[in-house]
Amino acid sequence: MNDELKASSDLGTHEVTNQPLPAGDGDLWAQDEALRAHARQAGAQDAALADFGALLGSAGMRAAGREANRHSPELVLFDAGGRRLDEVRYHPAYHRLLAAGFSAGYAALPWEEAPGGHATHAAMVYQINQIEPGVACPLCMTYSAYPVLRRSGVPGEPWLARITSREYDPSVAPVQRKKGASVGMAMTEKQGGSDLRANTTRARRDGEAFRLTGHKWFCSAPMSDGFLTLAQVDGGGLTCFFVPRWLEGERNAIRLMRLKDKLGNRSNASAEIEFADALAWQLGEEGRGVRTIIEMVHHTRLDTAMAPAGLMRAALARAKHWCEGRVAFQKRLIDQPLMRAVLADLVLDWEAALALGLRVAQAYDGRLGPAAPGEGAPDRRPQEAARAFARIAVALAKFNSNKRCVPVIYEAMEALGGMGFVEDTPMPMLFRESPLNSIWEGSGNVICLDVLRTLAREPLAGEVLQGELAAARGVDRRYDAALRAHQARWPGLPDESEARWFVERLAVLLSASVLIRRAPGAVADGYVATRVAGARGQLAGAVSGLDTAALIARI
Ligand SMILES: Cc1cc2nc3c(=O)[nH]c(=O)nc-3n(C[C@H](O)[C@H](O)[C@H](O)COP(=O)(O)OP(=O)(O)OC[C@H]3O[C@@H](n4cnc5c(N)ncnc54)[C@H](O)[C@@H]3O)c2cc1C
Repeated sequence: MNDELKASSDLGTHEVTNQPLPAGDGDLWAQDEALRAHARQAGAQDAALADFGALLGSAGMRAAGREANRHSPELVLFDAGGRRLDEVRYHPAYHRLLAAGFSAGYAALPWEEAPGGHATHAAMVYQINQIEPGVACPLCMTYSAYPVLRRSGVPGEPWLARITSREYDPSVAPVQRKKGASVGMAMTEKQGGSDLRANTTRARRDGEAFRLTGHKWFCSAPMSDGFLTLAQVDGGGLTCFFVPRWLEGERNAIRLMRLKDKLGNRSNASAEIEFADALAWQLGEEGRGVRTIIEMVHHTRLDTAMAPAGLMRAALARAKHWCEGRVAFQKRLIDQPLMRAVLADLVLDWEAALALGLRVAQAYDGRLGPAAPGEGAPDRRPQEAARAFARIAVALAKFNSNKRCVPVIYEAMEALGGMGFVEDTPMPMLFRESPLNSIWEGSGNVICLDVLRTLAREPLAGEVLQGELAAARGVDRRYDAALRAHQARWPGLPDESEARWFVERLAVLLSASVLIRRAPGAVADGYVATRVAGARGQLAGAVSGLDTAALIARI
């Protein structure tokens, strides 16, 4: 401790001791060996991630994350004269974080020429979730809207160029006059979110365009420049539309009704909105709305599968820092055998989520192999197989990684004792955030049913998945036996009521298959022993025989 800190630790009544020092500047790339290894194996772009990691890890950006969370967005419905504004005002820290994301290429990289764009994007999702998860929502939706807009075409063409711009432009203006644009998604209505066919918003033809009337029960990032949405066309069925927020000379008729008072995700405004004869353009075929917008959901799912890995990493990094700086019963917490068992056990869920998420992102880039550097000739499976794998594997990753996220963060919080419950640490924010990525873009049950549907309808997805599972065979007998047992238990698809059990096992096996091929021995061995072969109690740390030194060193 230097003199300056020591001086300020002497408070007159007592001296401050045994409180870990502030973490200070960090680097979310240089200090994360596991990320570097898995990102490289997934073909991500190192330089972009190194820059983004150094920026986000700085003490200044961490402070911005705290500020953006502390100062919730404010709904401003009218101006001083009572004219409608329908705007949301955010703290400057929120804008600063969003600008950092857009300028790093978070939403744009995957759609540029350079290879590994989706893997790089996925790693950025992981990085930003460690600092401020709320801004990940508008960044994710802008990234995900691109393929739908590109395929369907939107009148007033600058949209594609604006949403892949590296400039963040929050000004209130039509897209033609902006340097960059963001896009949101408004699907969920009061009567049903998973069952989108229950949507009642109506669309009426108006020349080349349409006019929408109805409500949307959840619409996050309502200051986006445009939204993908669904509405019923008279006699034509549920159809996908693009609704610009600003028109030349006037506001489009999108009314913000109120902002949700949410458990977490505080920096991100989530609104209830109404379309009051709002101008909209049709995307895709009439009556094929779900089929059109599902392309966007396919991409938002990648982010929701990757985000929990970032949240877990942030919680574990803080827990480790705390345990290294805190002594109890004459010994640092990090040296207490039971604390080591808990932390080491948590590492397994975090690294599994990280490794699987990036493997899935690699498939989004249209590349399935090779499974590990030097493992043999690159796999030449066509893009179609990669896409089929991405479709099924993203659902497995989203389900399992998010279900693990809540208990991991809760246990990491407990490692800080009472301070884990206090807002001076990031733990309460991370805990509040931990259930969210499981709920949106297909809640747990819906994802499990989607896995069954994909396996039933897309035989290629099942084939490529089996190939991926088989690729890890022959290394660990416990894994081989568990894979055989899964196939024997479910020779075909399970009954719907067993879908969670089936999907959980499949996700654990898939995670193990990636770790066996891509992670250090201590991680793969620990994961197979505890999660695959079941040498573990129900709770974190109820383990024995883990290589705690190697596992804790991964954090
Ligand atoms: C913070 C936040 C922000 C959001 N932002 C947006 C946004 O920007 N745009 C948007 O469109 N939506 C948004 N949503 C909404 C979100 O996508 C939905 O809440 C979600 O899709 C679930 O829909 P629901 O709430 O209607 O629940 P329901 O569809 O009623 O589902 C309730 C539960 O039933 C389960 N379930 C459903 N069907 C079955 C079945 N067949 N068998 C068994 N179980 C089933 C589900 O898994 C879920 O657990 C947001 C939600 C939150 C919390």
